[in-house]
Amino acid sequence: NCKNADDVLRAVKDYNVSFIQFWFIDVLGVLKSFQISPRELENAFEEGMGFDGSSITGFTKIQESDMVAFPDPSTFQLVAWRPSDRPVARLFCDVKNPDGTPFAADSRYVLKRMLKKAADLGYTYYVGPELEFFLFANSTEPKILDHGGYFDAPPRDLANDVRRDINFALESMGVAVEYSHHEVAPSQHEIDLRYQEGLVMADYAQTYRVVVKEVARKHGCYATFMPKPLFGENGSGMHCHQSLFRGSKNAFYDVTDPYHLSAEGKSFIAGLLRHAPEFTLITNQWVNSYKRLVPGYEAPVYIAWARRNRSALVRVPMYKPGKESATRIELRSPDPACNLYLSFAAMLGAGLKGIEEGYTLEEPIEENIFKMTDEEMLEKGVTSLPGSLREAVDHLEKSEFMREVLGDHLHAALVENKKAEWDAYRTQVTEWEIERYLPIL
Ligand code: GLU
Ligand code: MG
Ligand code: MG
Repeated sequence: NCKNADDVLRAVKDYNVSFIQFWFIDVLGVLKSFQISPRELENAFEEGMGFDGSSITGFTKIQESDMVAFPDPSTFQLVAWRPSDRPVARLFCDVKNPDGTPFAADSRYVLKRMLKKAADLGYTYYVGPELEFFLFANSTEPKILDHGGYFDAPPRDLANDVRRDINFALESMGVAVEYSHHEVAPSQHEIDLRYQEGLVMADYAQTYRVVVKEVARKHGCYATFMPKPLFGENGSGMHCHQSLFRGSKNAFYDVTDPYHLSAEGKSFIAGLLRHAPEFTLITNQWVNSYKRLVPGYEAPVYIAWARRNRSALVRVPMYKPGKESATRIELRSPDPACNLYLSFAAMLGAGLKGIEEGYTLEEPIEENIFKMTDEEMLEKGVTSLPGSLREAVDHLEKSEFMREVLGDHLHAALVENKKAEWDAYRTQVTEWEIERYLPIL
């Protein structure tokens, strides 16, 4: 566990590290990496390492393209998928402008800024994400590897060994695993990370996506976080369990409340519900994300909260009712192909806004919303999440709240990028249209 540059330099010597990977992400949360030799490291801590920002999605225009990556020593780890005789290490980086100021489109900076806001209000933010994924035979077709279902054990679960190696790799990189199991859909899996402070968890979850893919590759298969690869089966979600602590006290917990939720907890939920349409482009950023957010597959569609009901957008899990440390709020819409840093920033931002402005929370809806009629929904004031990437972009574009969370640069860059994605998609002629229309029209 390194705290500063000296610790890292020592570790690099002690372990005879051959290369150090510098990691940062583009505006869509895609991991970018370059390798430096240990000789360069000391200087990199002082002056950073330059790169061409105009070649990174959403970063800069060609005329102002010089960016600098500064490694964060606390993120030093040996990468688990490289041989241990001459190990390779990695460091997450903060991206800066040549003048040393934080770069506005660096997602890690956006999350840090929101965490600072929480800290100024006296809170520490914790997240426990549940990333689901599929294992397929290769990356060109969604060919399943087993017919297992929820919690199935081997031999129905054929990927037990893959998950086991993923767990070992994660633990070796300092990422604590809580649960690991076969998920509902065939060839679908879930490995849950033990909750952590927001920035640490964003780095962990980013690492998780790499580890899962690398270990799968070693096993000759392909891991994907695509939200809905199989029609007619559950998609892959990333439920996010969240809490705010004041020192050692869970700010969401109140023993006297019937739901064991404090006023802050309730306002946090109200903030998530009110701003969900505006941040959905961030938590669900692909055309395909909206194929998951449909009725009937344990993914949320309607904007409501509940304690047990899995059709709701926000759930307050009741596994250990009344246990202070376990009191948390689960947001069920995000998918594991999102930009993790921006998603955590948006979720936290929405919750904090609820607290700061004292939003009030309606009663929970415990019946299955998928079975309610339109009249019942209207009566209970239940509305829906955006139904497509197009709707989500419109909500984001109009949102003052999201402009503040993201900053002007990222807000504009994402609107532009996602409108282009939607245009590319909507002009396609799909298999479905051919099958449906060609024989009859
Ligand atoms: N796979 C479901 C989703 O799309 C979630 C299933 C569950 O873990 O409850 O969110
Ligand atoms: Mg799950
Ligand atoms: Mg869950």
